[in-house]
Amino acid sequence: MIQTKGYSVSAAKAPLAPFQFERREVGPHDVLIDILYCGVCHSDVHQARDEWGGAIYPMVPGHEIVGKVSAVGSHVKKFKVGDFAGVGCLVDSCRNCASCKEGAEQYCEVHWVGTYNSVEMDLKTPTYGGYSNKIVVDEKYTLKISEKLSLERVAPLLCAGITTYSPLKQWKITKGHRVAVVGLGGLGHMAVKLAASMGAEVTVLSTSPKKEADAKELGAHKFVVTKDAEAFAGVQNYFDFIINTVSAPLDLNIYLNLLRLDGTMVLLGVPPEAPQVHAFNLIFKRRRLAGSLIGGIEETQEMLDYCAEHNIMSDVEVIAMKDINEAYERMMKGDVHYRFVIDMATL
Ligand code: NAP
Ligand code: ZN
Ligand code: ZN
Repeated sequence: MIQTKGYSVSAAKAPLAPFQFERREVGPHDVLIDILYCGVCHSDVHQARDEWGGAIYPMVPGHEIVGKVSAVGSHVKKFKVGDFAGVGCLVDSCRNCASCKEGAEQYCEVHWVGTYNSVEMDLKTPTYGGYSNKIVVDEKYTLKISEKLSLERVAPLLCAGITTYSPLKQWKITKGHRVAVVGLGGLGHMAVKLAASMGAEVTVLSTSPKKEADAKELGAHKFVVTKDAEAFAGVQNYFDFIINTVSAPLDLNIYLNLLRLDGTMVLLGVPPEAPQVHAFNLIFKRRRLAGSLIGGIEETQEMLDYCAEHNIMSDVEVIAMKDINEAYERMMKGDVHYRFVIDMATL
């Protein structure tokens, strides 16, 4: 077994603290990655604090991982020692169901193995995430990382990037579409960059007036403070597509009314409480409410290649591992610019 160190949380109300554990030996299809950076997703906070239920403790969060390959199994073809590699939110799936066969492993009909707070395909071995110095992953679930981009700014693409790229591609967002991004945090700022790069007119809907200049810098064309009733009224029946990244309870009805005929709001954020939607807000204007979960492995590679080609990276604040609890508190206040990334050299 491979001795590994990281940070874990032992109970819903406990802080993150140093933790020693073991990774499996490198199998024939595995790569061993020395982790250099790991992004901090709001899903880490939800899960560490058991806001969704079913948390598995001790938990080592982290699913925005980049690092350097330090060993490869005998059958590995995609990587050699010294290559940069990335790992996102999933590390295995059944590989045989219809979803897996079409490259949508995140929708595996049998079981998809989350990078942490999950169990392996044996349904018993717990998985531990990227707030750690090493990880062993099957090469099939490991991504190639371009050497052109700065690694700490690439890490968040592995979740925030793919989670926003996938619905933009699925709904074929392009020039001529009016896209709203609700919530300018980790996912939101990637949604702005990606939607703008695809030619859409992008509006940020935010609770934080202070973020306006940043939103424009990120590529947004318009900025609406959601508490400003007049500005909000000005975008009724306006958008083709709304990407909702809000992590806290929100009245979806007032956002549905911002959609024009046949518009869609896709939910990415997962507040702990279930939302209520009045049917009229969908029936009038034939609106749709949808959801989307991260992205498959092939699509994640496509997104990484797209970002390398278009020079798209996350805006990050690099932190030391010991500052993770403070980062969670700042995240709860919406004080993120726009993704915390842990420098694993500080572990
Ligand atoms: P984040 O960086 O904390 O950003 C969330 C943003 O939502 C905040 O910056 C804030 O933006 C806004 N917000 C927060 N509280 C709000 C409130 N009470 N009312 C209105 N707006 C509020 O979080 P993230 O990492 O982007 O993740 C966002 C959500 O997506 C989380 O629930 C996470 O679990 C989920 N997620 C889902 C997937 C998926 O596959 N679907 C993948 C990753 C994450 P403003 O200051 O601009 O208002
Ligand atoms: Zn995430
Ligand atoms: Zn499957």
